[in-house]
Amino acid sequence: MSTSTPSDQPAASVLVINSGSSSIKYQLVDPDSGQAIASGIVEQIGEGVGSVKHVALGSTTRRELPVPDHAEGLRIVLGLFDEIGPDLEAAHVVAVGHRVVQGGALFDGPVLVDAEVERLIEELAPLAPLHNPANLTGIRVAQALLPDVPHVVVFDTAFFRHLPDAAATYAIDADVAAAHRVRRYGAHGTSHQYVSRQVAELVGRPLEDLNQIVLHLGNGASASAVRGGVAAETSMGLTPLEGLVMGTRSGDIDPAVVFHLHRNAGMSIDEIDDLLNRRSGIKGLSGVNDFRALHDLVEQGDAGARLALDVYLHRLRKYIGAYYAVLGRVDVIAFTAGVGENDDIVRAGVLTGLEGLGIEVDLERNAGRKSQPTVISPDGARVTVMVVPTNEELAIARQALEVVGA
Ligand code: ADP
Repeated sequence: MSTSTPSDQPAASVLVINSGSSSIKYQLVDPDSGQAIASGIVEQIGEGVGSVKHVALGSTTRRELPVPDHAEGLRIVLGLFDEIGPDLEAAHVVAVGHRVVQGGALFDGPVLVDAEVERLIEELAPLAPLHNPANLTGIRVAQALLPDVPHVVVFDTAFFRHLPDAAATYAIDADVAAAHRVRRYGAHGTSHQYVSRQVAELVGRPLEDLNQIVLHLGNGASASAVRGGVAAETSMGLTPLEGLVMGTRSGDIDPAVVFHLHRNAGMSIDEIDDLLNRRSGIKGLSGVNDFRALHDLVEQGDAGARLALDVYLHRLRKYIGAYYAVLGRVDVIAFTAGVGENDDIVRAGVLTGLEGLGIEVDLERNAGRKSQPTVISPDGARVTVMVVPTNEELAIARQALEVVGA
């Protein structure tokens, strides 16, 4: 992370807040330079002892102390800005940008927080029961503590709000689907949008002319097909459970597995929810969910780890093929997030054998972790394959800035 010194305070900054059920992540962003001026996380909120990490001005401060609720958590964060810096007043915070997971079919872009927006985030809570209420708590607490700054919400689903109906619709009884808002909303939209725009700048072509497949491979993972800057498909659905194999999520599965486990294994719906979201994916198959640990196990000859990697790559390859067909022509494939940016084994593994589709990897270019945008396909390849580091905080900060018109 880059930090700035008090002497180079930005003309304007945005405080980005990602409030989870027991954590608050934050970053003070200079939207011009794209640098994080400060960042940190409060964890174990509501537990006996919480932990706080504040990174700023070249140093990291850690504290262990009780954090009974989000209000206290944010108060501690603001206290650390006062005590350690940077000074929020000097940083000219012109907006607070809040990440909200589920905007349903209601939001297709960032919005200024008001009572109606808060009500709608609450109304959508059944679609994201763990996330939206926690996001809303963060918004309310931050508004109370920073009342003089406009607060903006950036929805994780917004980029996918206008997916074609053919992509967004589940083939189930239409009345049931409508009554319960069952459709595909996607997730990671801020990242897919940010990366696809970056790609256009990097290859020096108008976004409108480019067909892209974006692969956001972190602990959670999703793929999208982006035609001319507009999302045509994405792999996550009603919730982030659908699609790719992930660190701990199964991704696509026959829904009848749920009935089977409920009826024949006596598992409750909550147990199956926990199984598919937290005990499946790479972790379920190998016992670990970090790809570095997975590769270590594969090297040691662990059969479960080998299978986990094979299943992961196979699913990813299927999505690339599917999105190739959806788009009809692919100009760029972009890898991003923790695995996408750092794991050359996964990148090479998934693209090997796709030469017939014009997709090639230059193994030398691909080697190693990429902290900067990097083309990994050979010169002259029909499809440009690149690694483009994502920056969701910067994307949220810039969107917040657009909304407040600063
Ligand atoms: P999220 O935001 O979904 O929690 P990230 O995008 O930060 O996830 O990605 C985290 C994942 O990235 C880790 O679980 C790990 O599997 C993977 N990762 C991080 N560094 C490396 C690395 N050097 N090599 C391979 N995988 C890595």
